[in-house]
Amino acid sequence: MIRLSFSTLNSMETCHKWYLNKMMGLEKEDFPYFHAGRETHDVVQKHVSGVKENESLTKAGLDEKFYFPIVEVEKFDKNCRFQKDFGDYELIGYVDGKNIDNKRILEIKTVNGQVWSLGKCQKSMQRKIIGLCMPDYAESLYITLTRDFSKLNKYLIPFTEKDRADALKYIQDGIEVIEKGKFELEGDKNTCYRCIYRLNCQWSKL
Ligand code: SF4
Repeated sequence: MIRLSFSTLNSMETCHKWYLNKMMGLEKEDFPYFHAGRETHDVVQKHVSGVKENESLTKAGLDEKFYFPIVEVEKFDKNCRFQKDFGDYELIGYVDGKNIDNKRILEIKTVNGQVWSLGKCQKSMQRKIIGLCMPDYAESLYITLTRDFSKLNKYLIPFTEKDRADALKYIQDGIEVIEKGKFELEGDKNTCYRCIYRLNCQWSKL
């Protein structure tokens, strides 16, 4: 069984060398902003699960209507894990929180500048993949906010049949690239964007 993640599938659109680096087990770079984002996630997750209220989030309308009894409390939290098989491949991922009673998934997007628009959240392939892999859930709550909580948008977005069909095609296309073993992208898409492998990647344009 070959394991896929959203990052792996995403690399089929951005830089195929990412997948090769992953398969070679190269070390990733650890950016400080990853941890800053993690701290903001933690504050939101504690708030929506009722562990510790945050006044800014309450003022932004995140009240008891947006309750999530299960949130990710550690990296790779098994309570937030989802998994779905696609032939010889298995897709593994994690959500930020979930509430089976109202069939709602939580996704948090922490940003430096502009918070995400509704359109951007609706288009998110990660959201669609979650909808496909977690068919018992009907909608997702997207919370997109800055690290200082000064800007925050929240959207309730239903999972549609089209979302799930889009996700299935995206996954099948990604698997097709791996099966063909042709890890090159055409034209401009072949440009290195200096990802987390940049220090160890032989194709990196540092
Ligand atoms: S460092 Fe550049 S070339 Fe290498 S995997 Fe990342 S984006 Fe691709």
